[in-house]
Amino acid sequence: MIFDRSKALFAEACKHIPGGVNSPVRAFKSVGMTPIYIQHGKAGHIFDVDGNEYVDFISSWGPHILGHAHPAMIEAVKTAVERGTGFGACVEQEIEMAQKIKAFFPSMDMVRMVNSGTEATMSAVRLARGYTERNLIIKFDGCYHGHSDGFLVQAGSGVQTFSSVQNNGVTKNIVSETLVAEFNNIESVRTLFEKYPGQIAAVILEPVMGNMGVILPDVAFLQQLRDLCTLQGTILIFDEVITGFRLSKGGAQEYYGITPDLTCLGKIIGGGLPVGAFGGRQEIMDVLSPNGAVYQAGTLSGNPLALAAGCAMLDELAKSGTYEALEQKARYFSDKVSAIVAKYPDHLRYNVSGTLSTIFFTSKDVNNADDARSCDTERYARYFRKMIEEGIYLPPSQFEAIFVSGAHTEEDLDRAVTALDKTLASLF
Ligand SMILES: *Cc1c(COP(=O)(O)O)cnc(C)c1O
Repeated sequence: MIFDRSKALFAEACKHIPGGVNSPVRAFKSVGMTPIYIQHGKAGHIFDVDGNEYVDFISSWGPHILGHAHPAMIEAVKTAVERGTGFGACVEQEIEMAQKIKAFFPSMDMVRMVNSGTEATMSAVRLARGYTERNLIIKFDGCYHGHSDGFLVQAGSGVQTFSSVQNNGVTKNIVSETLVAEFNNIESVRTLFEKYPGQIAAVILEPVMGNMGVILPDVAFLQQLRDLCTLQGTILIFDEVITGFRLSKGGAQEYYGITPDLTCLGKIIGGGLPVGAFGGRQEIMDVLSPNGAVYQAGTLSGNPLALAAGCAMLDELAKSGTYEALEQKARYFSDKVSAIVAKYPDHLRYNVSGTLSTIFFTSKDVNNADDARSCDTERYARYFRKMIEEGIYLPPSQFEAIFVSGAHTEEDLDRAVTALDKTLASLF
């Protein structure tokens, strides 16, 4: 495969943009390549500036659950753009969006729109602090909640891949207010509650981890967290930026039957445009400005273009049969991948949650971040490069999820499976 144009663009980008990228996970640094510049996408495929075509398993890191350039999204955005791209004033579609989100997530009495997942989690934590009048939060090792200061502690995704804790621009004071527990280990949470009685405002987690690769929760662990938070008067926040509208219609909370106090959303609800949202119980959301003292705002929040794309997306997802079809597709793929991965029990593990999955290059079952860290990232890099040559576009880091979309055809999935079989055989 030739990447001449991508390479030239990246060389130019490095003169103007730090590291040549606007988000570190795009850098391809950890897989020993330079980034591939994408020219366009269609359904389950993306096409780069050198004319190479790929089956895309990143889906813009989640948003394109129904594939790229979906006709309903295009139509909705076109209609919206002709009316003007935003007014910094109220528009009717804000109400429509909130109503639609609530229909998917009954735990959300009230919803506020923001512009990214980062804003959603940052605002939800501020709200929890304001409501509880407590300072500390608990997060889990390997969970990623965007890039605001208080979350850059033992975080997954690009932070795991690239960052260090020294001189990273986050002050010790801020970090000291974020306590870190181990995923799937309720005792590690209990210990923190005992050590800091009456001081913990919120526990936040990805109910299924997607940013350290996919790591599944014990259902008992989620239930115990819920009970513990209720007992302690602590706000339980589910960061469903990835799992929302994906694990099931109503996200992980519906799938596992556990109700959080606050929920953070992003990615899919924007239909590919920059969007986030957070919401939850009425009495908590009531302390948000302008009703209450907790300030939160955004010039572009509830932007009509983003709302149009998001509403169109949720309408598509609300259609009957959508989730059944997604599940069927995901299972078709994961069954085949499982069978291949099973040939390498001393080298590989495979975690699957519906359309999300990760092949871990380790001999250890992966139930928490430490298990994931045991992976052979060098071998992952070689795997990634070979799969690219086969026209399969995967995340350029071991610590990310693969996304199957509703636009992948059986042929696309078979192509990936064949490439996987061949590639693994060459690596071991
Ligand atoms: C992507 C992600 C975020 C951050 O969202 P941005 O839109 O990138 O700011 C937060 N939480 C989770 C679980 C995510 O996967």
